[in-house]
Amino acid sequence: SKQRKIAVVGARNVGKSSLTVQFVESHFVESYYPTIENQFTKQIVLGKTPYTLEICDTAGQDEFSLINTKSLIGLKGIVIVYSCVNRASFEIVELIRDKILDQLGLDNIPAVVVANKIDLRSARDGGSVITPNEGAQLAAKLGAGFKECSAKLNVGVEEAVTLLLTRMEGPIKSN
Ligand code: GDP
Ligand code: MG
Repeated sequence: SKQRKIAVVGARNVGKSSLTVQFVESHFVESYYPTIENQFTKQIVLGKTPYTLEICDTAGQDEFSLINTKSLIGLKGIVIVYSCVNRASFEIVELIRDKILDQLGLDNIPAVVVANKIDLRSARDGGSVITPNEGAQLAAKLGAGFKECSAKLNVGVEEAVTLLLTRMEGPIKSN
């Protein structure tokens, strides 16, 4: 099978580990030790091609997560996660993407922006809620794909990874 390495990045507490564990192990973890970077492996078939995905679930020491230098080697795509009920996590998406491009020394990398915790959106109708339209606009600005997810309810999780893999295997779109 083809080997592909991806990383899940984003602010703390947005559900990076929950999304990763849901995707890889098909269950929801209520809490996951937040400061450790974890590596996962998952077999996935896209079209008729089998892939072995190496997934780096990142954890930062600062206010947002960045990737260990070692984990950057061979990185082919990123899932940038924000929580749709946390505006601060939405507002640093672009900064996180730029930092990773900086670290990689690249102008672009295939990416999918994920709005997680959509199961909480109706429950909390405050001003911090990010609409699907806002999320899609940001993703378009970054030249990235966009998917709304709930790691808790297992909504959109596999689709987000498939979307990223599709973009990785196609031509990289410049922006
Ligand atoms: P990380 O720091 O980005 O890795 O975030 P975690 O995966 O550790 O999740 C942070 C918190 O959000 C935990 O309490 C999770 O149970 C919770 N969480 C993660 N995803 C979801 C989701 O889709 N819906 C809800 N309601 N809670 C979630
Ligand atoms: Mg985590």
